[in-house]
Amino acid sequence: MPPPRTRETALRQRLAELRGPDVPAKALDARALAALAANPGCERRAILDGAGVNKTALASALGAPSAFGQSQFALTRGNAFEARVKSDGGAELLRLVHEKLDPAAEPPSHAQVPELTAIGPEGRTARTALALREATAAEGWTLLDHPMLALDVAGSPAFLEPDAVVVHPDGSWTVVEIKSFPMLDGSADPAKVGAAARQSAVYVLALEEVAARLDPVPRVRHHVLLVCPKDFSNLATASAVDIRKQRAVTTRQLARLTRLQDIADALPEGTCFTPEQPAEDLTAAVEAVPATYAPECLSACELAFHCRERSRTAGAVTSLGRSVRAELGGLTTVEDVLAAARGEAGNPDDPAVAALRRAAELRAEALGSRQGAACR
Ligand code: SF4
Repeated sequence: MPPPRTRETALRQRLAELRGPDVPAKALDARALAALAANPGCERRAILDGAGVNKTALASALGAPSAFGQSQFALTRGNAFEARVKSDGGAELLRLVHEKLDPAAEPPSHAQVPELTAIGPEGRTARTALALREATAAEGWTLLDHPMLALDVAGSPAFLEPDAVVVHPDGSWTVVEIKSFPMLDGSADPAKVGAAARQSAVYVLALEEVAARLDPVPRVRHHVLLVCPKDFSNLATASAVDIRKQRAVTTRQLARLTRLQDIADALPEGTCFTPEQPAEDLTAAVEAVPATYAPECLSACELAFHCRERSRTAGAVTSLGRSVRAELGGLTTVEDVLAAARGEAGNPDDPAVAALRRAAELRAEALGSRQGAACR
């Protein structure tokens, strides 16, 4: 007798069908999980990521290749900077953690750097958990260089590799993110810092799962250390980043991912996202899942060019940004907005409609007075 199909295996089977026969699942990494938090309302992204669809290949097959991701030059420069920061047993990195996050602790002059190599992601995850337990009990400074963490995402483990985790003498744990964008006079590009904070929040959640299995439970700090080059130099500088908000958003978003079943159930029978099928069928499959395009997608999702094009064609106000969409309430297309402003549609008691009509009147007045002045 075949084993009973649980809800979880049924969902996994359905997601594999959506991905396409014989298409391997693309593992979710921290960047992908963090990007989910950047656009929490998008069902299209949720189902594609949940099904392990390779969105880069999908975007190319749709004729809108992604410009998302780091260039080879940026990767090489980033790796060189990271190696420099971690050289000499991570002395500079630990000095920065001490200075920015734990100045009252003893200076990190004799830090441990445990060996974390093991076979496969599961082996590395187990090795990391053991090293964290030993480091916490040791009551000194420990640097874990590229540890491996696992986070349960919609019933499947996602393996995550932060740049470093530091264990403090008081047994608390800090996530360290090393980025190659510059910090000028102590501050960096807010969009890049935001993306790094979302990524770090994913690591913090994964660390909290490891911590929860220990007794007593160590504290995972909610301020992470962001290390960047100082003023375009090769020198390292750092800033403590509060990731509590990003952590809360990501937690909510991951909980919503378990609703993948609902999104999958709403799709037409036979829907499949394999890039092997004719472009027309693939486009229809992608368009069958509702999307909430916003300009933020351009820096966070491989499908951004495709979704932007569709959103513009449909005249959707979301392409103007989330704040504009929120201000306009129930008016979802540019056509609706213009009709409301001209007084041809919309409920005048709706504050958005009233504001649009007032703005249209002011505009007409301004243009009228300018034309009047020109005639004088
Ligand atoms: S680009 Fe498209 S699929 Fe990706 S998050 Fe934005 S709307 Fe969703």
